[in-house]
Amino acid sequence: MRTPLIAGNWKMNGSLALVDAFAQALVTTRLPARVEVALMVPFPYLGAAARAFRDAPVAVGAQTLSDQPAGAFTGEVSGAMLADLGARYVLVGHSERRSLFGEDDAGVLARVQAALANGLTPVLCLGETLEGREAGRTEAVVLGQLAAVFDALGPDERARLVLAYEPVWAIGTGRTATPEQAQAVHAAIRARLADYAPALAEALKILYGGSMKAANAGELLAQPDIDGGLVGGASLQVDDFLAICQSAG
Ligand code: PEP
Repeated sequence: MRTPLIAGNWKMNGSLALVDAFAQALVTTRLPARVEVALMVPFPYLGAAARAFRDAPVAVGAQTLSDQPAGAFTGEVSGAMLADLGARYVLVGHSERRSLFGEDDAGVLARVQAALANGLTPVLCLGETLEGREAGRTEAVVLGQLAAVFDALGPDERARLVLAYEPVWAIGTGRTATPEQAQAVHAAIRARLADYAPALAEALKILYGGSMKAANAGELLAQPDIDGGLVGGASLQVDDFLAICQSAG
Protein backbone atom coordinates (compact mmCIF):
# COMPACT_ATOMS: atom_id res chain seq x y z
CA MET A 1 0.00 0.00 0.00
CA ARG A 2 1.48 3.35 -1.07
CA THR A 3 1.34 6.17 1.48
CA PRO A 4 0.08 9.37 -0.19
CA LEU A 5 2.49 12.31 -0.40
CA ILE A 6 1.31 15.90 -0.67
CA ALA A 7 4.19 18.15 -1.71
CA GLY A 8 3.94 21.92 -1.96
CA ASN A 9 6.02 23.79 -4.53
CA TRP A 10 6.39 27.44 -3.55
CA LYS A 11 8.30 28.23 -6.77
CA MET A 12 9.94 31.70 -6.40
CA ASN A 13 7.38 32.78 -3.80
CA GLY A 14 7.07 32.84 -0.04
CA SER A 15 8.97 34.42 2.80
CA LEU A 16 10.30 33.67 6.27
CA ALA A 17 6.90 34.88 7.51
CA LEU A 18 5.21 32.15 5.47
CA VAL A 19 7.56 29.53 6.93
CA ASP A 20 6.49 30.79 10.38
CA ALA A 21 2.81 30.77 9.43
CA PHE A 22 3.06 27.09 8.41
CA ALA A 23 5.00 26.23 11.56
CA GLN A 24 2.36 27.88 13.76
CA ALA A 25 -0.53 26.22 11.94
CA LEU A 26 1.15 22.83 12.28
CA VAL A 27 1.20 23.19 16.07
CA THR A 28 -2.60 23.17 16.16
CA THR A 29 -3.42 21.03 13.09
CA ARG A 30 -3.36 17.27 13.28
CA LEU A 31 -2.36 15.94 9.88
CA PRO A 32 -3.73 12.53 8.86
CA ALA A 33 -1.40 9.80 10.10
CA ARG A 34 -1.34 8.04 6.73
CA VAL A 35 -0.24 11.05 4.67
CA GLU A 36 3.30 12.28 4.07
CA VAL A 37 3.71 16.02 3.63
CA ALA A 38 6.58 18.03 2.16
CA LEU A 39 7.22 21.64 1.24
CA MET A 40 9.63 22.51 -1.56
CA VAL A 41 10.76 25.99 -0.60
CA PRO A 42 13.22 28.39 -2.28
CA PHE A 43 16.88 27.75 -1.38
CA PRO A 44 17.20 30.69 1.09
CA TYR A 45 14.35 29.34 3.25
CA LEU A 46 15.49 25.72 3.43
CA GLY A 47 17.44 25.98 6.67
CA ALA A 48 14.73 27.98 8.42
CA ALA A 49 12.00 25.61 7.20
CA ALA A 50 13.94 22.51 8.28
CA ARG A 51 14.34 24.03 11.76
CA ALA A 52 10.73 25.25 11.97
CA PHE A 53 9.28 21.86 10.95
CA ARG A 54 11.71 19.78 13.00
CA ASP A 55 8.96 18.57 15.33
CA ALA A 56 6.22 18.52 12.69
CA PRO A 57 5.48 15.65 10.30
CA VAL A 58 6.51 17.81 7.35
CA ALA A 59 9.64 17.22 5.30
CA VAL A 60 11.49 19.95 3.49
CA GLY A 61 12.68 19.91 -0.11
CA ALA A 62 14.27 22.06 -2.80
CA GLN A 63 13.06 22.83 -6.32
CA THR A 64 16.20 21.96 -8.29
CA LEU A 65 19.90 21.29 -7.78
CA SER A 66 23.14 21.43 -9.73
CA ASP A 67 24.23 18.42 -11.74
CA GLN A 68 27.77 19.06 -10.46
CA PRO A 69 29.14 18.07 -7.03
CA ALA A 70 31.16 21.28 -6.35
CA GLY A 71 33.39 23.83 -7.99
CA ALA A 72 33.41 26.98 -10.08
CA PHE A 73 29.70 27.11 -10.95
CA THR A 74 28.68 30.55 -9.72
CA GLY A 75 25.10 30.69 -8.50
CA GLU A 76 24.57 26.92 -8.43
CA VAL A 77 23.56 24.83 -5.38
CA SER A 78 24.76 21.25 -4.94
CA GLY A 79 22.93 18.22 -3.62
CA ALA A 80 25.36 18.04 -0.69
CA MET A 81 24.42 21.60 0.31
CA LEU A 82 20.71 20.73 0.22
CA ALA A 83 21.28 17.67 2.38
CA ASP A 84 23.38 19.80 4.75
CA LEU A 85 20.44 22.16 5.22
CA GLY A 86 18.05 19.33 6.05
CA ALA A 87 16.34 18.83 2.68
CA ARG A 88 14.91 15.38 2.10
CA TYR A 89 13.35 15.88 -1.35
CA VAL A 90 14.28 17.78 -4.49
CA LEU A 91 12.16 18.42 -7.58
CA VAL A 92 13.90 17.47 -10.80
CA GLY A 93 12.73 18.27 -14.31
CA HIS A 94 9.85 20.55 -13.35
CA SER A 95 8.36 21.88 -16.61
CA GLU A 96 9.45 25.42 -15.70
CA ARG A 97 13.06 24.20 -15.40
CA ARG A 98 12.76 22.34 -18.70
CA SER A 99 11.15 25.22 -20.65
CA LEU A 100 12.66 28.33 -19.01
CA PHE A 101 16.11 27.08 -18.02
CA GLY A 102 16.89 24.65 -20.82
CA GLU A 103 17.03 21.45 -18.75
CA ASP A 104 16.95 18.63 -21.29
CA ASP A 105 16.62 14.90 -20.63
CA ALA A 106 20.39 14.51 -20.13
CA GLY A 107 20.44 17.38 -17.63
CA VAL A 108 17.46 15.93 -15.80
CA LEU A 109 19.18 12.53 -15.54
CA ALA A 110 22.37 14.14 -14.23
CA ARG A 111 20.39 15.99 -11.56
CA VAL A 112 18.56 12.83 -10.52
CA GLN A 113 21.93 11.11 -10.13
CA ALA A 114 23.31 14.07 -8.15
CA ALA A 115 20.29 13.93 -5.82
CA LEU A 116 20.63 10.18 -5.28
CA ALA A 117 24.37 10.51 -4.63
CA ASN A 118 23.53 12.84 -1.74
CA GLY A 119 20.77 10.77 -0.17
CA LEU A 120 17.96 13.00 -1.43
CA THR A 121 14.68 11.72 -2.88
CA PRO A 122 14.26 13.12 -6.39
CA VAL A 123 10.68 13.98 -7.37
CA LEU A 124 10.93 13.52 -11.13
CA CYS A 125 8.38 15.65 -13.00
CA LEU A 126 6.92 14.42 -16.30
CA GLY A 127 4.31 16.07 -18.49
CA GLU A 128 3.15 16.97 -21.96
CA THR A 129 2.38 20.40 -23.40
CA LEU A 130 -1.06 21.26 -24.72
CA GLU A 131 0.35 20.92 -28.22
CA GLY A 132 1.61 17.43 -27.39
CA ARG A 133 -1.75 16.39 -25.95
CA GLU A 134 -3.69 17.72 -28.91
CA ALA A 135 -1.34 15.85 -31.25
CA GLY A 136 -2.14 12.63 -29.38
CA ARG A 137 1.42 12.38 -28.07
CA THR A 138 0.76 12.48 -24.30
CA GLU A 139 1.97 8.94 -23.56
CA ALA A 140 4.89 9.16 -25.98
CA VAL A 141 6.15 12.36 -24.32
CA VAL A 142 5.64 11.28 -20.73
CA LEU A 143 6.99 7.75 -21.17
CA GLY A 144 9.93 9.15 -23.16
CA GLN A 145 10.82 11.48 -20.28
CA LEU A 146 10.53 8.53 -17.90
CA ALA A 147 12.75 6.29 -20.04
CA ALA A 148 15.41 9.00 -20.38
CA VAL A 149 16.02 8.66 -16.64
CA PHE A 150 14.93 5.14 -15.72
CA ASP A 151 16.82 3.36 -18.52
CA ALA A 152 20.06 4.83 -17.13
CA LEU A 153 19.46 3.90 -13.48
CA GLY A 154 19.94 0.61 -11.69
CA PRO A 155 17.05 -1.18 -9.92
CA ASP A 156 18.00 0.11 -6.46
CA GLU A 157 18.21 3.68 -7.74
CA ARG A 158 14.84 3.53 -9.55
CA ALA A 159 13.19 2.44 -6.30
CA ARG A 160 14.32 5.68 -4.59
CA LEU A 161 12.38 8.10 -6.82
CA VAL A 162 8.96 9.70 -6.58
CA LEU A 163 7.28 10.57 -9.88
CA ALA A 164 4.98 13.53 -10.55
CA TYR A 165 2.76 13.66 -13.63
CA GLU A 166 2.18 17.33 -14.35
CA PRO A 167 0.45 18.18 -17.63
CA VAL A 168 2.09 21.46 -18.60
CA TRP A 169 -1.26 22.91 -19.72
CA ALA A 170 -2.61 22.46 -16.19
CA ILE A 171 0.27 24.09 -14.27
CA GLY A 172 -0.64 27.50 -12.90
CA THR A 173 -3.52 27.81 -15.37
CA GLY A 174 -6.46 26.91 -13.16
CA ARG A 175 -7.25 24.21 -15.72
CA THR A 176 -6.99 20.86 -13.93
CA ALA A 177 -6.84 17.51 -15.71
CA THR A 178 -10.05 15.59 -15.08
CA PRO A 179 -9.62 12.67 -12.69
CA GLU A 180 -10.12 10.35 -15.69
CA GLN A 181 -7.47 12.11 -17.81
CA ALA A 182 -4.98 12.05 -14.95
CA GLN A 183 -5.72 8.43 -14.00
CA ALA A 184 -5.21 7.29 -17.61
CA VAL A 185 -1.70 8.76 -17.73
CA HIS A 186 -0.82 7.53 -14.23
CA ALA A 187 -1.92 4.02 -15.24
CA ALA A 188 0.24 4.20 -18.37
CA ILE A 189 3.25 5.28 -16.29
CA ARG A 190 2.65 2.47 -13.80
CA ALA A 191 2.34 -0.08 -16.61
CA ARG A 192 5.70 1.07 -17.98
CA LEU A 193 7.25 0.81 -14.50
CA ALA A 194 6.09 -2.81 -14.43
CA ASP A 195 8.27 -3.44 -17.50
CA TYR A 196 11.27 -2.60 -15.28
CA ALA A 197 9.95 -4.64 -12.35
CA PRO A 198 6.42 -5.44 -11.10
CA ALA A 199 7.47 -4.61 -7.51
CA LEU A 200 8.67 -1.18 -8.66
CA ALA A 201 5.29 -0.44 -10.24
CA GLU A 202 3.58 -1.48 -7.02
CA ALA A 203 5.80 0.61 -4.75
CA LEU A 204 6.54 3.88 -6.57
CA LYS A 205 4.46 6.93 -5.77
CA ILE A 206 3.09 8.87 -8.76
CA LEU A 207 1.83 12.33 -7.75
CA TYR A 208 -0.50 14.47 -9.83
CA GLY A 209 0.29 18.18 -10.28
CA GLY A 210 -1.54 20.93 -12.12
CA SER A 211 -3.93 23.38 -10.45
CA MET A 212 -4.71 20.98 -7.60
CA LYS A 213 -6.69 22.75 -4.90
CA ALA A 214 -8.88 21.88 -1.94
CA ALA A 215 -11.98 21.78 -4.15
CA ASN A 216 -10.66 19.19 -6.62
CA ALA A 217 -8.06 17.27 -4.58
CA GLY A 218 -10.48 14.68 -3.21
CA GLU A 219 -11.63 13.32 -6.56
CA LEU A 220 -8.11 13.32 -8.02
CA LEU A 221 -6.65 11.57 -4.98
CA ALA A 222 -9.43 8.96 -5.08
CA GLN A 223 -8.05 7.59 -8.38
CA PRO A 224 -6.29 4.24 -7.92
CA ASP A 225 -2.98 5.29 -9.48
CA ILE A 226 -2.77 8.82 -8.04
CA ASP A 227 -0.64 8.66 -4.90
CA GLY A 228 -0.64 12.29 -3.89
CA GLY A 229 -0.22 15.77 -5.26
CA LEU A 230 2.40 18.30 -6.26
CA VAL A 231 0.75 21.59 -5.39
CA GLY A 232 1.95 24.98 -6.62
CA GLY A 233 -0.31 27.98 -6.09
CA ALA A 234 -2.43 26.42 -3.35
CA SER A 235 0.67 25.62 -1.28
CA LEU A 236 1.12 29.36 -0.62
CA GLN A 237 -2.10 29.45 1.41
CA VAL A 238 -1.72 27.59 4.70
CA ASP A 239 -5.42 26.69 5.01
CA ASP A 240 -5.76 25.54 1.39
CA PHE A 241 -2.64 23.41 1.55
CA LEU A 242 -3.60 21.79 4.85
CA ALA A 243 -7.11 21.11 3.48
CA ILE A 244 -5.53 19.24 0.55
CA CYS A 245 -3.43 17.24 3.05
CA GLN A 246 -6.59 16.37 4.98
CA SER A 247 -8.35 15.16 1.83
CA ALA A 248 -5.51 12.71 1.18
CA GLY A 249 -6.08 10.97 4.54
C1 PEP B 1 3.61 23.10 -9.86
O1 PEP B 1 4.25 24.14 -9.77
O2 PEP B 1 4.20 22.02 -9.87
C2 PEP B 1 2.16 23.17 -9.95
C3 PEP B 1 1.48 22.06 -10.07
O3 PEP B 1 1.60 24.42 -9.87
P1 PEP B 1 0.01 24.76 -9.73
O4 PEP B 1 -0.52 23.87 -8.63
O5 PEP B 1 -0.03 26.20 -9.38
O6 PEP B 1 -0.62 24.44 -11.04
